[in-house]
Amino acid sequence: MKKLYIKNFGCQMNEYDTSRIVEQLRVSRGYQRTDMPEQADLVLFNTCHIREKAEEKLFSELGRLHKLVATARQAAGQEPALFGVGGCVAQATGEDIFRRAPYVRLVFGPQTYHRLPIMLDRLQREDGHLCDAEIAPESKFDELPQSQEVGPIASVTVQEGCNKFCAFCVVPYTRGREWSRPVADILQEVRHLVAQGAVEIQLLGQNVNAYQGMDSSGLTHDLALLIRKIALLPGVERIRFVTSHPADMTDDLVEIFADIPQLCTYFHLPIQSGSDRILQRMGRGHSREAYLEWIAKLRAIHPDMAIASDFIVGFPGETEEDFQETLRLVEQVSFDHAYSFCYSARPGTQAATLPDPVPSQVSTARLALLQERLNFHQLLRNQQRVGHIEEVLVEGAAKKGSGELTGRTPGFRKVNFPGPAAWIGQIIPVRISEGLPNSLRGHALNSP
Ligand code: SF4
Repeated sequence: MKKLYIKNFGCQMNEYDTSRIVEQLRVSRGYQRTDMPEQADLVLFNTCHIREKAEEKLFSELGRLHKLVATARQAAGQEPALFGVGGCVAQATGEDIFRRAPYVRLVFGPQTYHRLPIMLDRLQREDGHLCDAEIAPESKFDELPQSQEVGPIASVTVQEGCNKFCAFCVVPYTRGREWSRPVADILQEVRHLVAQGAVEIQLLGQNVNAYQGMDSSGLTHDLALLIRKIALLPGVERIRFVTSHPADMTDDLVEIFADIPQLCTYFHLPIQSGSDRILQRMGRGHSREAYLEWIAKLRAIHPDMAIASDFIVGFPGETEEDFQETLRLVEQVSFDHAYSFCYSARPGTQAATLPDPVPSQVSTARLALLQERLNFHQLLRNQQRVGHIEEVLVEGAAKKGSGELTGRTPGFRKVNFPGPAAWIGQIIPVRISEGLPNSLRGHALNSP
C-alpha cells in the first residue's frame, strides 16, 4: 500500500481541499494517509500565501522534511519519495518553486488538484517535473469522489474565489474570480455527508455571502435561500457558514437566524480596521458605521449571537488615530472571537506599492495592544456563558483530563466536560460552570 503524507497550511478551505485530496488519492490510486513522513512515498504540502511568514515557513518546513524523508528512504533502500506543493503559494509562484526547492517534482493549484492522479501517473512514467496551476475551466467538484470518512462536523465548499481585490489580499489572484457551485450539487453533497454521519454542515467560501448559485430551474439562490433549502434536508441538525464580507450582507441573511432553528448563532464578519480612512485605503467597500449596523441587527435577531472578526494592524498609512479608532470599535462591539495580524506586504497586491509603511516595531506594539483588548472581551463573553445551557456537539475526547469530552457550542465556543465516549457525534445539553480565555467548562445536564 502506497503511503501519502500531506501537510496543510492556512484556512478552512485549504483544510477542505486537503481532505478531498486525501480521499481522491485513496480511491483512485490506493494511497493511505500516514502521519509519519519518513514512511511516505508521496509528500504533499497544501499551502497558504496570505502572509510572508506563511510562505517562508513553507520552504523551511519543505527543506527539513525532505532531508528527513530522503535519509530514511535511503537507509531503507527505497526509491526517493515524490514531493509536491499545492495551494495558494503554488498558484502564485508556480515553476519558481522548482528553483527554490529542486527536489519538488509536482506543483498544482487549488483549482487543479482533481487532476493529481493523472499528474502522478505522468511523473511515474517520465523524469523531470510538472506544474499545473491554471484556473481550471472544468469544475473540480465534478471529478472528485464523495467523502467516505466523515466526522460529526463536515465542510462543504459552496463558493470560491473573490472579486473584491482588497488592497492587501492575494486571494483574488490565487483562487480566481467568485464562482458559486450549483444548488443541486451542494444539496447532493450535504445529503451524502449526513448519510455518512455528519451532524453539522459548515458552508465554506472566501466570501460565502457572495454566493449566487443556480438551481436546475435557473433560479439564482443567494446564501440565505441556499441555507433555507439545506435546512429542509432530513438529518441536518446544525448549519454554520464562514467567511462573510460586510459589503455582501443582506437583511435576509440576518432574518434567517430567526427562522431556521438549525442555524448556529455564530457570525464571522471581518472588519480589518475600525478607521474609515483605512477601510477606504484597503478598498473594503464599506464603512465602519455600516459594519456596526449589521452587528446591531445580528445581535438584535438573536441574543446569543457570537460575533467573530479579523483585524490587520500596521496597514500602510495607518496613524495612531486610525489605530485608536480600531480599539474604540473593539470596545463598542466586544467580539466573541477574533483573528488579528500585522500587515504583511504580498507581491502583486495594490498595497505592496503603497507609500507610508508603518515601522514594524510600531505595528508589533499595536498588535500586542489590540490582542490584549480582544482577549479581554473574549474572556468576558466566555464568562457571560456561565449558568447558561449550551447545546454542545461532541467532537471527541478532550486533550487534557481523562474521561473528558470536547465539543463546540452553536456560538463556536469550545467546551470541555465529563462524559462517556458514546456521546461523540451527539449534541449534548451542558450547563456552563466556567468561562476561560479560550474555552468553557461545564457538566452535562443528564450526567451518566
Ligand atoms: S474579500 Fe478581500 S480579504 Fe477577503 S478574500 Fe476577498 S480580497 Fe481577500
